[in-house]
Amino acid sequence: MRSITTLELQYAHRFYNFKGEAQYLHGHTGVLTIEVEDSVEPGVNMVFPCNEIQKTAWEVLKNFDHALILREDDPLLPAVLKVYEEQGIRNGAPTNKMKGPAFKTELATAYPECRLVVTKETMTVEGMIKIVYDLLKDKLNIAKITFTSGVNAGSADFKPDKKIDRCPWCGIALNENGVCPKCGYKKK
Ligand SMILES: [Zn+2]
Ligand SMILES: [Zn+2]
Repeated sequence: MRSITTLELQYAHRFYNFKGEAQYLHGHTGVLTIEVEDSVEPGVNMVFPCNEIQKTAWEVLKNFDHALILREDDPLLPAVLKVYEEQGIRNGAPTNKMKGPAFKTELATAYPECRLVVTKETMTVEGMIKIVYDLLKDKLNIAKITFTSGVNAGSADFKPDKKIDRCPWCGIALNENGVCPKCGYKKK
């Protein structure tokens, strides 16, 4: 069965070198849906608590929220960084608090201190699905990701193949010692 969670991301981007209006900087509210598949954990009668899927995803994905997303070869990138630098906000500002941990994968690098994500490929809905899967595949048994942004929408199915032991009392993943990080339940 599946547990499904949805979260919203507000971001600015552009399709560098795209022959259409999306080559201009613009913004979206993107809606991301993550479907997690597994057996139903009998203790809680759930696959996975949806708020926990959301928390796990948000920890990483909040770096995309109220962020600027640019491709690594986009000349806007050095131009924007120059302005941030001159303004003294390149390495952070007191009001910039909602930051996730910086990450770097094959497809994207997050610079939370200046609310920027640099991508290898153009950040289309398809590109975003690849990035999100890559960031979360080791944490969640993802069966499907859907991303919609304006009139664009995309989805991809994945094969959930991890064996994740879950707490029979609160449903979340047990840590490497078989202990629930939330309630302290220990697997026998
Ligand atoms: Zn767009
Ligand atoms: Zn627990």
